[in-house]
Amino acid sequence: MTDSAPLDVDLVLLGGGGAASLLLAALDRHGVRDLRIAVVDPVRRRGQDRTWAFWGHPDSDLDPLLSASWQQVEVATAARRRVLDLTPLRYAMLRSGPVYDRAAEAERRLDATRIVAPAETVRDDGDRVLVRTGGGRSVRAGWVLDSRPRPPARAGRTTWLQHFRGWWLEADRPVFDPTRAVLMDFRTPQPPRGVSFGYVLPVSDRYALVEYTEFSPDLLTDAGYDAALAGYRDLLGLDPTGLRVREVENGVIPMTDAPFPARPTPRVVRLGTAGGATRPSTGFTFSAMYRQADQVARALAAGRAPVPAPAYPRRHRWMDAVALRALDRGGVGGPEFFDRLFDRNPAERVLRFLDGGTTPAEEVAIMNSTRLLPMITATAGDAVHRVRDRLRPTRPAPAIPPAVVGDPLGSAPTARRGGPPSGEDDVRAR
Ligand SMILES: Cc1cc2nc3c(=O)[nH]c(=O)nc-3n(C[C@H](O)[C@H](O)[C@H](O)COP(=O)(O)OP(=O)(O)OC[C@H]3O[C@@H](n4cnc5c(N)ncnc54)[C@H](O)[C@@H]3O)c2cc1C
Repeated sequence: MTDSAPLDVDLVLLGGGGAASLLLAALDRHGVRDLRIAVVDPVRRRGQDRTWAFWGHPDSDLDPLLSASWQQVEVATAARRRVLDLTPLRYAMLRSGPVYDRAAEAERRLDATRIVAPAETVRDDGDRVLVRTGGGRSVRAGWVLDSRPRPPARAGRTTWLQHFRGWWLEADRPVFDPTRAVLMDFRTPQPPRGVSFGYVLPVSDRYALVEYTEFSPDLLTDAGYDAALAGYRDLLGLDPTGLRVREVENGVIPMTDAPFPARPTPRVVRLGTAGGATRPSTGFTFSAMYRQADQVARALAAGRAPVPAPAYPRRHRWMDAVALRALDRGGVGGPEFFDRLFDRNPAERVLRFLDGGTTPAEEVAIMNSTRLLPMITATAGDAVHRVRDRLRPTRPAPAIPPAVVGDPLGSAPTARRGGPPSGEDDVRAR
């Protein structure tokens, strides 16, 4: 195929990562069979390159793919450890391997064309969209669903990153409690600007993902992540001589009130992080991606345009902008902010709020659980900043930096290395 003979399809997916994988599975699930589909990505996603944690109701189509789920989670601060019952929701862990496998199967059943190349230009004439890819292949489509990573349209008022490193730890003896996950453990030393916490996602009493996460403006160094994670492991009372690091997981997720336009041109719809599915105040993305994939697939199955509802209501984005500002400008301490949220609301309400599913009355209750004065200051500051933004030229957003990867398994100085534990045959170190 050459530029003069583009492949004609109904739908082209630019990017074949998390959002596109969920979409392919949803198209298959909703019985879409009569669409011509192409997927463009320079990488064919396979195996365990990330672990998704999210909450939701049990009995979804994802259940057979889960590595673990928990009815109870812990939120810990220096002052107390709170055990939260999430009923009727549950917190769940989904590794990328089964998601990519299901997407590959869906792609086959949908008879989609895979183009292993980067999309380079996208031209929307309002009727059809022409996509030129690296290597000269081009595709013309009725709709483009674009989940390629990209910075927001302009700089936000607050630009933070959620950045983290996790170790998949295998222990010689039972050391983890598989009946509950640690959602946020704020006993980690707090950075001068930002919030840090650890968390633990156990899949058995000997095997767990243990992570150190920061919400802050700048990344750490490779050694910085290792030191912080080793510190958290020690805080958990885990003996490093009885542990093996089986895999290392690194990531960077934007946390900003900057806009991610969901429909930049009439026939281009953005999905995933690029389309605003990442919740600015937490970095959680998965549930919104899943929701939007389902909406798009339902729309296509019904012969409608593949345009999902916004990932979060506008008022939630405003509340997140205020919260981020209060955290960034030092008006509110991160551990205190989250502690009060879980102290004064049922856990289920907080989690529904973070997924964009609460009513305005519930949101007032959530607002009332934060300290009033710093939030009023942040609200006023946000309003002034918005006006200033209208008056001055748009500032470009900084690119979202890649994760600091380091030397995959050399990065755990006090842990022994080893091959994958039995039963984890798709595990690889990154
Ligand atoms: C390690 C990690 C762990 C995470 N854990 C969680 C979690 O626990 N819970 C949660 O809610 N969120 C989590 N997230 C955030 C979010 O859910 C994921 O980043 C998710 O994969 C986002 O999906 P996406 O499709 O937007 O982006 P991606 O999954 O990154 O997919 C983007 C795709 O675009 C492709 N691409 C790049 N350039 C081009 C191009 N020019 N042309 C075509 N394709 C291109 C890439 O190869 C990639 O496959 C995590 C993120 C990371 C990095």
